[in-house]
Parts: sequence; C-alpha cells; structure tokens
Amino acid sequence: MTNKLTGIAASDGIAIAPVYLLVDPDLSFEEKIIEDCEQELVRLSIAVDQAKAELEKIRQLASTQLGEAEAQVFDAHLLVLSDPEFLAQIKNLIEDEKMNAEASLQKVADMFIATFEAMEDNPYMQERAADIRDVKQRLMAALLGVELPTPATIDHEVIVVARDLTPSDTAQLNKKYVKAFVTEIGGRTSHSAIMARSLEIPAIVGIKGVSEAVTQGQKIIVDAIEGSVILQPTESELKEYQDKSALLRQNKEELKKLVSASSLTSDGKSLEIAANIGTPQDVEGVIANGADGIGLYRTEFLYMNSSDFPSEDDQYQAYRQVLEAVDGKGVVVRTMDIGGDKHLPYMTLPQELNPFLGYRAIRISLDKQEMFKTQLRALLRASVHGDLKIMFPMIATLSEFHQAKAILEEAKEELAQAQIAYSDKIEVGIMVEIPAAAVLADQFAKEVDFFSIGTNDLIQYSMAADRMNEQVSYLYQPYNPSILRLVKFVIDSAHQEGKWVGMCGEMAGDQMAVPILVGMGLDEFSMSASSILRTRQLVSRLDSQMMKELAERVTKECSSSEEVLDLVKNYLAQ
Ligand code: PEP
Ligand code: MG
Repeated sequence: MTNKLTGIAASDGIAIAPVYLLVDPDLSFEEKIIEDCEQELVRLSIAVDQAKAELEKIRQLASTQLGEAEAQVFDAHLLVLSDPEFLAQIKNLIEDEKMNAEASLQKVADMFIATFEAMEDNPYMQERAADIRDVKQRLMAALLGVELPTPATIDHEVIVVARDLTPSDTAQLNKKYVKAFVTEIGGRTSHSAIMARSLEIPAIVGIKGVSEAVTQGQKIIVDAIEGSVILQPTESELKEYQDKSALLRQNKEELKKLVSASSLTSDGKSLEIAANIGTPQDVEGVIANGADGIGLYRTEFLYMNSSDFPSEDDQYQAYRQVLEAVDGKGVVVRTMDIGGDKHLPYMTLPQELNPFLGYRAIRISLDKQEMFKTQLRALLRASVHGDLKIMFPMIATLSEFHQAKAILEEAKEELAQAQIAYSDKIEVGIMVEIPAAAVLADQFAKEVDFFSIGTNDLIQYSMAADRMNEQVSYLYQPYNPSILRLVKFVIDSAHQEGKWVGMCGEMAGDQMAVPILVGMGLDEFSMSASSILRTRQLVSRLDSQMMKELAERVTKECSSSEEVLDLVKNYLAQ
C-alpha cells in the first residue's frame, strides 16, 4: 500500500495529528414486522433519550467553542425530539402496523420532510425539513448503535478527513483543534478551500480515496505546501516534518516585521494589498496581517451562518462592526453571492444541472428584490461608520448593473424619506468574473466606480473548467495567456476611464502572478489575510518598470502557461 497520497494544496502549512473521519455513516436497516410492541417502544424511547443527551452535549460544546449563533441550530433539533405529534406517529406505526422502530421512524420522518418541503415559498418550513432530516439521522444512528461524527464537538487536536466539506461544515471547524483538513473533492478555489485560507487551517483537497485509506485516530502528516498526505509516518519522517513546521513558523515571524510597512515596489510605486473576509470575525486576521483595507467581504456567509434570512438590523450590525474595526480603511462589501456551491438551509434553490452557470448571486438578488433591498438598506445605514464601497457579483450585462443600481437608488430614497443617514461617498463597482463583462470592460468602465477581477470564476468560465472538479483542475490556469490578456484588457479599460481596478480572486495572492499584475498596473490586490505579508515582501523586491516589460511580453509573446511561468522566473532571477 502506498504511504503517500497527493492532491491539491489549498491552504498552506504542515500538520501532524490523528485522523478525525467525517464520513456519512452506514444507516441501512432491515424493515421488519415485530412481535413484541412493548419492547420496540422501549427501544425507541431509549434511542430518543440518547439522541437528546447527545444533542444537549453538542449544543453546549458548540456554544462554548463556536458561539451561540452556531449552537442555536441544535435547539431546533431538540424541539423536534420533544414534538409529541412526531413521536406519537412513530409509536402508532409500531403499535398498529407492527413495524420495527427504524422503519416507523423512516416513514414518519420522510412524510414530515415531504410536507414541509412542499411549502416552497416558506423558508421557515424549509428549515424545519432540514431539522427533521438531521434528527432522523441521529435517532436512526441511536437505534442502530452507530456513532455519528459531529465536528462541532471536536475537543482535541485532529486532522479532519472527509469526502467533501461544505462551506457550512468548514464554518463548524474549531481552529484550535482542527490542525488541517483533507478532502476527496474540490479545487483550490472551492469555497471550503478559500475559508481554510482565511481561517489559516492547512488544507489539501482533491485526494480521491483518502477517506477509505485512513482509519479513525490514525496519526498522519499533512504537507499542505506540497499537497501530500503521509499515511504511516516513520520516526524519521515525523522528525523531518516537525523541523519543516518549525522553519515555517520562523518564516512567519520574519514576515511579521512587515505588518505596519507600506506596500511599495522597489522603485517606490504604491499599491494596495487588501484582504478577503467572510465574517466580521475574520477582521482579526486582517489587522494582525497589516492589510491596507478589505477588498472583498463575502457577505453570503452572514446568510449561511444563520438559521433564517438575517434581518436588516443584524446585517447593519455586522457591516458596521467591520467598517469600524478597520479604522477608516476602505471596505469593499460584495452583495450576497448565494448559489453555486453556497446554499442556505432555509432557502430552496432549484435543482440545476450546472449550478455555477445557474441561479446565483446578482441573478437571485434581482429576482428577490425585497431580500436584496434589505441588504442594501443595511449597507447604506452602515456606510456612515467608515469607507464603504458596494460591489455586485456575477454581473454579465450592463442591464443587470443598471437594475442593481436602480434598486440601490430606491433604497437610498426610502432611507432619505425616513430621515435615516447614509454616506454620499459610496463607490459602486462590479466583480468582473464573467468573460462577457471582461470583454466589454471598456463600456462597463464608463459607468462603474471600480472593478474587482474575480479570477476564481473568470478562469472557470473562460477555460470551461469547473473550479470544484479536481479532474479538470489542470485546466485551471491563471497564467494562461488567454486569461492574462483578459485581465490586461480589464485593467487598461478601467484606467482609460480614470477608474481603479482590483483583483479579489485567488490569483491576486499568487506569487508567480503578482509580478505580472504589478506590471499591468493593477491598483489593488485582495487576498486571504495569510498571504498579505508574503505578497508585500515580494512586491518590495519588484521594479514596476521591469514588471511592465514582463507584462507586455507575456501577453504578446507567450502561447502557454509554461512559457509565461518561464518568463516570470527569468525576470525574478534578474
Ligand atoms: C471570484 O470569483 O474570483 C471571487 C472572488 O468570488 P468567489 O470566489 O466568492 O466566487
Ligand atoms: Mg466569484
């Protein structure tokens, strides 16, 4: 058996710890006709008590380790377990139909789920369906004597190994104990990978078969710089990686000296190196790493970490908190980008064959205008507390931008009528992440205040290579001259109209792409907080004129990523 598995390094670092396997348990059972109803009812009652006890423990741990908001979801589960109607129907099936407890539970739970799910327009009922699904799983596991993995309760150092981690699973991971994670599915720009970088948890994605290759509790090494997992480390391998990890820590200490430095090239050109965040809690890392501002606040996490649509007031508080925490530095807040790989438990999205090409981001906002306006009102109210810039995601046409702006104007109007203050200096821009917008950047540039290039999506759409699919990850090529030409056109178009342009896709913090982007004249680079200091150090070693020549050459002379990379290496060696 091989001792080493390789995948895609998604968040760098090294970890050595036992495995915590997060895989779906086998909850299959046999449907039986029972003879002893009394005994079956006792089995059910013991399972309900056990599930309740587990949930109470999880709730308490989640509240202390993750926060009260994350813990509240377990209250809803406890409520289902105490629902007399739900339990009475299961008992009835046992008594009247002589069905075993597992089959009775399945039948009743599925019926409840189907009823709630049918109420498509009622987010509250959708949420109840999700609660019942969770409770059914826990109760079934208790009946079958199977242990359920529960990441929120991890209370010792582990490496989480999973087939897949959704962004909300990732949000449940406690950084104190989860030293790394490894998944079978995903690419460098899947949202779990992006979150791992902002949480500074080392991560490797796209290792097929890893969850079957390890056992619970087995000690492994994760080298998330190389992208490899060592399954049965020898003493000498353990020592080697402990040393590597110490060196990494030392380098980080060295970089810390740049926390309050300006972001300047070697010839004194000033740039903005900003951070991407998902929640107000991430601001701590932004400040610790000395970011020049926030170039992307992915507000959808506010919606995802909640059990219902966040109210205008809740949103206002979150935006205000971020604006105040960065003390006057610019904050680009992106309106919510739900869809693709990001779902809300309380909102049913249509089943789509290609969700990344489907109902997502601004497309949802323009369809559900009340929801959109609630977010815009919250943003406008928060704008008086700092330097807010509003950005719309997934804009494909000018008409979408016009519609979004019109709704923003309506929201302003409403606030003005109610005599609620908002800033009159809010810049409004778009993400350039759909090739159609990139190609038409010269026209968009006349109307927007700024662009932020979203290369995570721009690359997947330009190369027709799903960012989540490790099988086509070889096509995910930030240095491909086709991508570089698009990026250059967007930058030039913005500058032609006197507008600034940033990049908030992962490419902005890519050490081989940064020299080219500096040469193209990109104004703002926004990245995971953990990449900021490394990028500031790199930029301080680059001469902007020399990089301009490099940028000209890669877009005019090169025909492949490999040629681009060779040229960059040549320039860096000069
Ligand atoms: C992008 O597409 O580059 C981007 C920054 O947005 P997200 O990764 O959230 O889709
Ligand atoms: Mg995007």
